[in-house]
Amino acid sequence: MQRLRELSRRVEAVYGEMADTFSSYQQDSGLSCRSSCGECCTQPTIEATVLEMLPLALHLFDQGKAEQTLTQLEELPEVSGCFFYQRLSFDGKQGQCTVYQQRPSICRVFGAAGYRDKMGKTSLSVCKTIKSDKAEKYQQHLIMLTEHPPPMMMSAKEQVNELDYELGNKHYPINQALFMALEKVLFKSYYSSFSTDLQIA
Ligand code: SF4
Repeated sequence: MQRLRELSRRVEAVYGEMADTFSSYQQDSGLSCRSSCGECCTQPTIEATVLEMLPLALHLFDQGKAEQTLTQLEELPEVSGCFFYQRLSFDGKQGQCTVYQQRPSICRVFGAAGYRDKMGKTSLSVCKTIKSDKAEKYQQHLIMLTEHPPPMMMSAKEQVNELDYELGNKHYPINQALFMALEKVLFKSYYSSFSTDLQIA
């Protein structure tokens, strides 16, 4: 259990740097999200590794909500958006993340970030809502890619996932990744109760 806690602290340290880098780029470029927009959180295609969900799984465990959340995740339809998205409008486009501090990498880099195209050149990935809201700024930043390169989405994710090959080498739908992270935490906690290392914190 102590090893999972240490690993989670290292993931969170990278998350801290990531938040600074990506939110600075999004603020400085003007390519930031609409207030209360959560359309991306409703997509069933969001993926994360088990490692990326570890801080959230430990947070839920510490709050005594791990088993309850596992049961709720089991009852979700096979195809669904993120369990932690709270809809605030009928169509679900307005809403909020209820686990913002513990959200995984993809949620920290999504919006406006760099990626490598098929030719290996740096390009700019911008969500379709931002693109339509801020079409002119998007075009300007495409032209200025060399002078003002965006932070790269994949290298940020890799920085997290290379912290642990076993937990960071495979992506799953976000709810499934959390389910697996919770199972891991509960399993470790159960076995650590048999060892001399009874200290969870
Ligand atoms: S963790 Fe939060 S930001 Fe990420 S998809 Fe879920 S609700 Fe959205």
